This record gives sequence, C-alpha cells and structure tokens, in this order.
Amino acid sequence: YHAKEGGNRYLFFSEDMNKKAVKRLQVENLIRLGLKEDYFQVYYQPKMSFSDGTLNGMEALVRFITPKNGLVSPGTFIPIAEETGQIVEIGDLVLRKACIDMKRWLDEGIIRGRVAVNLSARQFNLPDLMQRIDRILHETELDPHHLELEITEGTVMNNAKHAIETMHQIRDRGIHLAMDDFGTGYSSLSYLRKFPLNTLKIDKAFVDDADSDFGKAMIDTIVTIARNLGLSTVAEGVETNEQKAFMTEMECDVLQGYLYSKPLSAVEFSQFAMMDKMTTAKLPYEETA
Ligand code: C2E
Ligand code: MG
Ligand code: MG
Ligand code: MG
Repeated sequence: YHAKEGGNRYLFFSEDMNKKAVKRLQVENLIRLGLKEDYFQVYYQPKMSFSDGTLNGMEALVRFITPKNGLVSPGTFIPIAEETGQIVEIGDLVLRKACIDMKRWLDEGIIRGRVAVNLSARQFNLPDLMQRIDRILHETELDPHHLELEITEGTVMNNAKHAIETMHQIRDRGIHLAMDDFGTGYSSLSYLRKFPLNTLKIDKAFVDDADSDFGKAMIDTIVTIARNLGLSTVAEGVETNEQKAFMTEMECDVLQGYLYSKPLSAVEFSQFAMMDKMTTAKLPYEETA
C-alpha cells in the first residue's frame, strides 16, 4: 500500500515497515501517557562485593508498568524513547527517583556504596547534561560520591574527543563512571586508556560463556585489561554458582545477577538491604564511597 505525501511524491511501505511504524507510534503514545500518568518506576538490582559478599550498591533500572498493557520492557521502549527524544524526560525522572531513594537509604544507614544509573547516548550528548545532573543532585541533596553513571561504548565512540570532556566533567563532581556491556561494542583500546572511567561492566554474554575455554579466556582478558588500567570490574548477569565461582576466581570486584537477586522495587530493595546489613553486622560497616 502507499501513502500520499504532499505534491505527487509517494511513500511506499512494505507490510513489515508499516507494522513497525504503527508499533513505534503506539509505544511513543504510550510513553507520553506514561510520563503524564507517572507509570515509570525505578527498580534496583543489588550488586555484591567479591571480597566479603556483602551488598555494595545497586543498579537503577527503569520499569514501565501500564494498567492496560502491563509491563513494557526496557528493550522495547528505550530504543524508541531514544529515537523520539522522550528518553531525556525518562532519564531525568529515573535519575531523580534514584537520587531520592539513595539519599533516604543512606540517611537510614541501610546502604553504602553507590547507586548506578544508566545514561543513554541521547542524554550523554545533551548540551545541558551537566546542568541537569547538578540540578537533580542539588534538589535531592545526594552526595555525588554516591552516584555512578553507566554509559556504553557506542555512546562514547561516536565522538570520542567530546565524550572525554563530558566524562571529565562528570568525574570532576565525584560521580563514578562505568562502561556498561563492555566487550560488545567497538571501543578501541587506545581510547579506553584515555577515558576517565572507574569501572568496566563485563557483559552478560561473556558471563554466560564462562563454562567454555573461550569464554573463560575472554573474561580473563577483560579483567586483565581493567586491572592494567586501574579500573574495577563488575560481572553482570551472574545466574549460576559455577559462574560465580569462576568470576570469583578471576577476582572480579563486584557481582550482579539473578543468583543474588532480580531487580527489586524500592520497598523490596530496602528489605534486601536491611537483611544484608543484619546478616553482616559482625563485619566492619564503613563508608566506602
Ligand atoms: P543493562 O544496563 O545492561 O542492565 C542489565 C540488564 O540485565 C537488566 O535488564 C537486568 O534486569 C538484566 N539482568 C540482570 N541480571 C540478570 C541475570 O542474571 N539474568 C538475566 N537474564 N538478566 C539479568 P533490563 O532491566 O530489562 O534493562 C535492559 C537494558 O535497558 C539495560 O541494560 C539498559 O541498557 C536499558 N535500561 C534499563 N533501565 C534504563 C534507564 O533507566 N535508562 C536507560 N537509558 N537505559 C535503561
Ligand atoms: Mg547498566
Ligand atoms: Mg549492562
Ligand atoms: Mg547488558
């Protein structure tokens, strides 16, 4: 079928393209409604420290829960929100909620470390990114040392020079920076050295392969690169005790995955944190930020 577009130019859609466009528009409208009706929530996935097995911080993950359509997964709506620009409003909302919750849990003394928030490429490249972050930190009164931002290789490799400047501005505030999904993108090792990062997050795909010799070699390589650059490592998507054992053997600093916990609502997470604090009460409980 074809749609008339102005004058006598025609746009041709294949059945498939048309379905995609319709779906995209539906999700875009749903996001608009969700922003208006406050359907976005922030869940938290615990991150466990390798050295003593205790709660070390958490990753904030957005959840879009609509009354009619139930849970819309980030894999579906984040790429569309990124295209339409709606990710900017969603991103601010996630950062603000994460800072508010983290500040409360720090005040209550049930958490230490940092809350990690994912930053999309579109957000990272906003000319007023730092003003937005500063405003949210100021409003929520969260100490920037308790915040970490996760970016991906794709985000920083487009314009590495500009990205490095932005990364320095983030680090100047005391905010930590992690490279998410590391190993799946195309960042060059020469740039990696110039990026002011704190942490490499080893992508789940490698952790999944930890039962093969090749997978083991890949993880070993990534951990070695991180160590040589003075970066800490987080293994994401740890699901089995075998994976945990291997990542521990590799001395990966932090483990995150369903083996410990799936992402939790704020209420569930505070219970998890309190339980962790009680069971580890004998251990010294210091500020590590
Ligand atoms: P990510 O940042 O790499 O987050 C990790 C994803 O792996 C999360 O999926 C998490 O729920 C999932 N995961 C963690 N442990 C396990 C495990 O043991 N097994 C399995 N199968 N999965 C595990 P989620 O929440 O669906 O998010 C998917 C992606 O969407 C994220 O990948 C991130 O790129 C993006 N995303 C999520 N929340 C936000 C957000 O607030 N802002 C932005 N810009 N992106 C977000
Ligand atoms: Mg992440
Ligand atoms: Mg990740
Ligand atoms: Mg991932």
